[in-house]
Amino acid sequence: MSNRAEALIDLTAIAANVNKLKATAGTDLMAVVKADAYGHGLVPVAKTAISAGANWLGVALIEEAHALRAAGITVPILAWLVPPGSDYAAAVDAQIDLAVPSLDVFKEIVATGKRARIHIEVDTGMTRGGFLEEWPDFLKSDFSNVEVVGIFSHFARADEVTEKQNQDQLANFNKAIADLAAVGVVPQLKHLSNSAAALTNQSAAFDLVRTGIAMYGLTPDLEHLGTSKSLGLLAAMEVRAKLHLVKKVPANSPVGYGATESTSRDTVLGVVAMGYADGIPRVAKAAGVFFDGKRCPIIGRVSMDQFVVDLGPETTAKAGDHVVIFNNGAAGEFTAEDWGLASSSINYEINTRIGPRVPRIYPHE
Ligand SMILES: *Cc1c(COP(=O)(O)O)cnc(C)c1O
Repeated sequence: MSNRAEALIDLTAIAANVNKLKATAGTDLMAVVKADAYGHGLVPVAKTAISAGANWLGVALIEEAHALRAAGITVPILAWLVPPGSDYAAAVDAQIDLAVPSLDVFKEIVATGKRARIHIEVDTGMTRGGFLEEWPDFLKSDFSNVEVVGIFSHFARADEVTEKQNQDQLANFNKAIADLAAVGVVPQLKHLSNSAAALTNQSAAFDLVRTGIAMYGLTPDLEHLGTSKSLGLLAAMEVRAKLHLVKKVPANSPVGYGATESTSRDTVLGVVAMGYADGIPRVAKAAGVFFDGKRCPIIGRVSMDQFVVDLGPETTAKAGDHVVIFNNGAAGEFTAEDWGLASSSINYEINTRIGPRVPRIYPHE
């Protein structure tokens, strides 16, 4: 390993997860590759997902969709975070489908004078994106200058399978579809499910599932759906970093800024060449690294570019060796879920925050 830190991305795992999700949902699949494919690398992941059978790509930003087009990708792409003032004309020219969550956005898209491909976004109960109070007015719109490709919404609690809110959202979605049909608009595609719903709720699959986290081999919710492994998913990312220094220190040595912790015994500490600027959460307390078959805890505060771990007095580690920050946990390593728990967060945040200074390596390419 020559990099001081790197993220190894197993594209074969992503392909296997796409296959599994498509089979489970029994529908077409939109590979959600927003936020640099949850930190795994936008273009390599998009190409892998398409080869494995993904029919669509989904992104938050129009810029992300343009980057996919610039890489020569021709499958349909939907962008859903498209606030007023966005360059809708350029998006339409690049064959990027646009979410329409409000009258403002609809009017601006129509005003381009171009025939846009749109997916109408309805708020079915999450109270975030999509039409809510404007819906009756929107139904009175003139739809003749756009192509209504889809209607969609998003679950708030799909990971909590028995929550009534899921049934309510599904019912509200069906009602919105009926409202549209009543004004003569029948979208080709209806889509509602994220990863958690794709894995657990066939009745919400409609024509397309939009899967992000599960495609990367990670559980949508550790507490309610179990581990990635128990869901049959293969975690695709391994983050590892070099030990910059290895040093023997006596008991009671204060470690790091603020001297928040001290060594409890004579031991060997490792200085790991990664820090919060690379996405190691400063608040993570109960996490650590894996070296030579064992977990070594963080000691002291995480710094911007480095943090210290207690390798134990018997360690064989030397400077320049690498440690695993997280991976699929197969040998007892920390996982993205462990780091999420250790920082009062979730695997989604751990993966997407691995920073741009950490090169992504694709060993199976
Ligand atoms: C991010 C996102 C998804 C994917 O969610 P996962 O839980 O990662 O599967 C699907 N749809 C929308 C609208 C999203 O913003």
